[in-house]
Amino acid sequence: MFCRNCGKDVPENAEVCVNCGMKPLMGKKFCQNCGAETKENQEVCTKCGVKLKSSMGKGAKSKLVAGLLGIFLGWLGIHKFYLGYTVPGIIVLLISIIGGLPTIGGSILVMWIFGLIEGIIYLTKSDEDFDELYVQNKKQWF
Ligand SMILES: [Zn+2]
Ligand SMILES: [Zn+2]
Repeated sequence: MFCRNCGKDVPENAEVCVNCGMKPLMGKKFCQNCGAETKENQEVCTKCGVKLKSSMGKGAKSKLVAGLLGIFLGWLGIHKFYLGYTVPGIIVLLISIIGGLPTIGGSILVMWIFGLIEGIIYLTKSDEDFDELYVQNKKQWF
C-alpha cells in the first residue's frame, strides 16, 4: 500500500512509514491503494475507485465533540477532561464553582466565554492540526 501522508510505497499494514515517520493511514494526501494524490475530505479515490482509509491512531479524540463540549459545557472544564487534561479541567471547574458564589456567577460567565473560545478554536483547526496539537502534543490551553 501507499503512505497516505507522503505517497511512498510501504509494506501492507505497516505501522509507521519509513519515509515520513507518520502512521501511513494518518495522512490524507495520497490514495493508499494507487498512490494518487487525494484531497483532504475526499472519501473515494478518483483514480482507482477504492474507498480511502484513514485512521487517526488509537485513542484519537473527536474535534467536534471537544469543540461542542467547550462551547456548551466549557465552564465545567468538561472539554479539558475529555481531552485528558485533568489538571486544567479541575482548575476551570474550581474557578467556576468556588468563584461563582462571591462573584454571583461572574466567574462562571468568564469560564463559559473561555470554554466557548477554546471550543471555537478546536472547531477551526483541521483534523490533522487538532490531532497533532491537542491529542499528541497535549496543548492544554487554547
Ligand atoms: Zn510517508
Ligand atoms: Zn487510488
